[in-house]
Amino acid sequence: ATVYLNGEFMDADQARISPLDRGFLFADGVYEVIPAFNGVLFRLDEHLGRLARSLAELRIADPHDGPGWRRLCEGMVARNGGGHQSLYLQITRGAAPRREHAFPNPPVPPTVFLHSSPLTVPAADQVARTEGVAAITLDDLRWARCDIKSISLLPNLLLRQRAVETGAQEAILLRDGFVTEGAASNVFVVRDGRVCTPPLSHCILGGITRDLIIELCREKSLPVIEAEISEPALHDADEIWISSSTKDVVPVTTLNGRPVGDGRPGDTWKTLARHYIEFKRRLCGL
Ligand code: PLP
Repeated sequence: ATVYLNGEFMDADQARISPLDRGFLFADGVYEVIPAFNGVLFRLDEHLGRLARSLAELRIADPHDGPGWRRLCEGMVARNGGGHQSLYLQITRGAAPRREHAFPNPPVPPTVFLHSSPLTVPAADQVARTEGVAAITLDDLRWARCDIKSISLLPNLLLRQRAVETGAQEAILLRDGFVTEGAASNVFVVRDGRVCTPPLSHCILGGITRDLIIELCREKSLPVIEAEISEPALHDADEIWISSSTKDVVPVTTLNGRPVGDGRPGDTWKTLARHYIEFKRRLCGL
């Protein structure tokens, strides 16, 4: 596959990064994952907006403007043959001797890396077939700025690994008795036909898919609120969904080994997933 590194497209085997890169030494960087369907990058402007925000929070100088990023992302997807792809972007603070934790002074150029890999069309496109996924609850042991899409993902990896080792696909995280998000997804619950997701805060990533789900619910008159979800409310939910860019919106049908609702994807999920697919179809011609 072709990748992009610091101004050039090249074969992945040719790409070389310094071992002094602060991404390698400190996880001092940010990333984005953007899906492309039929070669069309889905919600690209929203992803680029979040990337700019993550960079600003880390005070890494943004190496491109909006149109520059757009050209780069579209160029990457085109070079890898269009179709369905997952585009990955990573920007680190750059390479500097490991003398100081503080930022290099004077600053060094950031490292910019893009790559893309084939994406199987996510679960919401298989409404009739999907059976939902299993999740477990775990304590959210991450830091206090989960709103930044930082490459420092060690806690997320450990949490996801725990889930996988129990036969589940995702860990739903609880902080002080309230749901924050999944190890790599946002969380929604449905009770009596009302959709609820935790409000934006420093404790969750503002998911691009989360925003779209809220938008679609409002457009289609499905009641939706952003409010705290307590642990008992999670266990009492008729439906639980998780959302992310590469998986869309997926029903959780067992939680800690017990069925959620009747243990099958719920009616509200089916309605929302239908709208989600229509929206994707309009944008990407799926
Ligand atoms: N929360 C976390 C911790 C994530 O890693 C992700 C994405 O992987 C999400 C939420 C979902 O965000 P998005 O819908 O923008 O992919």
